[in-house]
Amino acid sequence: MSTSSSVSSPQQLQSHTCKWGLSAKCFTATTIENGGRRFYKCRRLGSNSCGYLNWFDEKLPSHVSMMIHNKKVELDSSRKNDVVWFVSLVT
Ligand SMILES: [Zn+2]
Repeated sequence: MSTSSSVSSPQQLQSHTCKWGLSAKCFTATTIENGGRRFYKCRRLGSNSCGYLNWFDEKLPSHVSMMIHNKKVELDSSRKNDVVWFVSLVT
């Protein structure tokens, strides 16, 4: 007699493995061309990276990517202002 079917696991993103055999990390791009698009990338940085990159999302309309990119630039500049404020407070 067959027992109950296997427990259905919650839907998961497909796991990606980079060339080092490590699980790749999911990032969200903020470039003008690909803003808002998620991708998997080697979790090691710089020269330690194996160069693995795999897009998860389809390309978004250019105006959407542009909007997300602009938002990111805006956020970055406000963070920089925070840092400058902090530094001037310390010195
Ligand atoms: Zn890697």
